[in-house]
Amino acid sequence: MAVMKSAVPQPLGTLAMPAATPPREPARPACAHCLALADDSRRREPHPCLTLCNTAPLVSQSAAGVPFSMMSFTCRECGTAWRLYDRANELFVSWVPEHPLVR
Ligand SMILES: [Zn+2]
Repeated sequence: MAVMKSAVPQPLGTLAMPAATPPREPARPACAHCLALADDSRRREPHPCLTLCNTAPLVSQSAAGVPFSMMSFTCRECGTAWRLYDRANELFVSWVPEHPLVR
């Protein structure tokens, strides 16, 4: 019979694990605006409840070398965080929620 011995001391326990998400309330259902945006994620306009988080867009390059800019928004209604990706030479943008939307 194998006996599991945990003789190894675990100094800091779970403190060593970085929290994946900030300690906020569990996922709230997304509001109608966010659900509509998820269904139409290539439109340019943010929906009326979105607030721009950082005024300066993050400019970077994709792995293929295509420059793009990214802006962060948060929904005042349901708290969903969105990223708006705008690639150079592309007609459409893409809205990506930070977490999958809860319907
Ligand atoms: Zn929302």
